Formats: sequence, C-alpha cells, structure tokens
Amino acid sequence: MNGFMKEFKEFIAKGNVMDMAVGVIIGGAFTAIVNSLVGNIIQPFITLITGGGVGVSGLQIPVNEETVIDFGAFISAIINFLIIAWVVFLIVKALNKMQAAVKPEEEPAPEEPAPVCPHCLEEVKPGATRCPHCGGTIE
Ligand SMILES: [Zn+2]
Repeated sequence: MNGFMKEFKEFIAKGNVMDMAVGVIIGGAFTAIVNSLVGNIIQPFITLITGGGVGVSGLQIPVNEETVIDFGAFISAIINFLIIAWVVFLIVKALNKMQAAVKPEEEPAPEEPAPVCPHCLEEVKPGATRCPHCGGTIE
C-alpha cells in the first residue's frame, strides 16, 4: 500500500494530472458556454429569420406516439461541434503563434567564431593585440 501511495504521489507530482484536470474543468465550462450560445442565441436567431415556429429545435418528425426523429437536436449537436472545433482551432493557432514568437528568445545567440592568430592560427580572445601562444602581434 505504501508503494502504491508513493507511486500515486509521483504520478500527481509530475504535473500532467494537474494540466489534465485544468483541461477537463475548462473544457466542461467551455461546453456550457457553447451550449448556451447555441441554445440561447443561435437557435432563437434561426427561429427569428425563419419566421418563428421553425426553429432548429422544432424540426421533429413524429414516427409514432413514442418515437420522434429529432432533426433539431441533431443539427444543434452539429452546430455545437462546429463552434467547438472552430474555437479549438483558433486556440491551437494562437498557441502555435505564441510558441513561434517565444522560440527565438530561447535559442542562444550564435557565438561569433573566436579570432585566430594570423601567425600560429591558435584562437585568441577578441580584441587581443598580442597572441598568448606565439607572442605575435595581432592587428
Ligand atoms: Zn599566435
């Protein structure tokens, strides 16, 4: 049991779990926002432009007393998916842009090649006027 707890602690401490939890929580909250957007804004708008009564949620074909083919719910699900896919695409695009903008700073500046003594071809410090290897003068 001790070994199990230790393993579990390490699993938690790796940080991936926290990232995942944050993702799940944000994802859940985001789904609620999209559902609200579709249900409270887009569907009433469709109802408005179709003259009322023909809202997405009204597209139902009753087969018999118990079965209803609900095109409205299906179309709502598709709209939800398209909005989520679009927003996720925008987020991924923004993250890629941010990563591309940050990357050049992380890379170390390319070092200039150390100057070389013209007499012995040993490397000398930049700005040196006398070679420490052969004593020759460097211009
Ligand atoms: Zn030299």
